[in-house]
Amino acid sequence: MIPPASAAGAFRLRKVLAAACGVVMILGLALIGFFNENAALLVEGLTARAWQLIILAVMVLLGAVMVLLWRCPACGLFMGLMRTPRQCPRCRIELL
Ligand SMILES: [Zn+2]
Repeated sequence: MIPPASAAGAFRLRKVLAAACGVVMILGLALIGFFNENAALLVEGLTARAWQLIILAVMVLLGAVMVLLWRCPACGLFMGLMRTPRQCPRCRIELL
């Protein structure tokens, strides 16, 4: 359990980290597109298809990290597709 005073700070950090994961995932999507356009490319001895699979695996991992981060720091409720809530809908702790 986390004291209410530090919940907002903890949630802010989670929000920044989740956003960073999102940015990296968008870059990953762009890279997958790049390797689609340059399918004959060899980078570090790996084919474009191999790089696409590696990037996809990293994106799935980041997606899982985002789901783990995007929770109420006090009760662990998943925030789903909500935009930054002012307080947790379950435990009512202030998040902003
Ligand atoms: Zn909560």
